Amino acid sequence: MDLLVPSLPTPLLEISDEVILKSGVRLFIKRDDLIHPTVSGNKWRKLKYNLKQAKSEGTTTLLTFGGAFSNHLYATAAAGKYSGFQTIGIVRGEDPGEKKSSTLKFCEAQGMVLHYVSREEYKLRNSDDYINGLKRKFPNTFIIPEGGTSEFALKGVEEMTEEVNQQLGFTPHYYAIAAGTGGTAAGILSSGANVVAFSALKGGDFLETDILNMVEENDSRGQLKLFTEYHFKGYAKYTQELLDFILMFKNNHGIQLEQVYTGKMLFGLYDLIEKGYFKTGDCIVAVHTGGLQGLLAELKQD
Ligand SMILES: *Cc1c(COP(=O)(O)O)cnc(C)c1O
Repeated sequence: MDLLVPSLPTPLLEISDEVILKSGVRLFIKRDDLIHPTVSGNKWRKLKYNLKQAKSEGTTTLLTFGGAFSNHLYATAAAGKYSGFQTIGIVRGEDPGEKKSSTLKFCEAQGMVLHYVSREEYKLRNSDDYINGLKRKFPNTFIIPEGGTSEFALKGVEEMTEEVNQQLGFTPHYYAIAAGTGGTAAGILSSGANVVAFSALKGGDFLETDILNMVEENDSRGQLKLFTEYHFKGYAKYTQELLDFILMFKNNHGIQLEQVYTGKMLFGLYDLIEKGYFKTGDCIVAVHTGGLQGLLAELKQD
């Protein structure tokens, strides 16, 4: 039974306000947060071809990695349940016992089996030896890298750009993207479009090479500009200034952002627009990559 039916294409909304009008750019929001009730945003896009590959290999179990608040673990647990896979989550850090995050509780409720590993062991998640060990320990299992970011992810993300091209009638000058592992940014670059990426973590400079390494180097690859200073003290951290921006954005445009990824990205994008980074007439598509399951309680108001 496949209940992973998405709402496609997701809406593309043009938004406007004083900052936008003054700058002369056009700003659109690609509402991938509306793609599916539990497998939202870029996680749906990145999982799609991973799951197809897992099916075609005849595997019955998905295994992947994440922290206690990982949107990717959440999405994989739900996607696995909807499409008939068992799921295993390798979780960074000690078993929280009673103090389990709501993300991990949700994962367990979907049937995901959680294995807690030390931070040292978690660091090995991309090493061949470690992966081979996991394959021996969990036979007939399809291993999806952290964030869903694999070769199969890029194809799914490229489909998002095809939707945008159809909706706009042309390729936008830039996509604005929040980056965690950089898989989403890489998929857009490989479609040929340009990306301004905003690191959701502190010290995110490594993302530049990580992202470019995922994309085949050819003439049609888009240009990447990575901004690493809009992390607001680090991954999943935030300041009042960020929360105020998210509330203001919701009031002005009726669109809910969250504090881990999309709030930081749009804050950074507005800062660049105000500073004159873009030219008059530039068309920017900011992708709402979802993640609202992790919305801070104090931002939930309706
Ligand atoms: C996971 C996530 C990202 C980061 O995507 P990457 O492809 O890992 O860079 C961005 N936004 C949201 C809402 C996410 O959940």
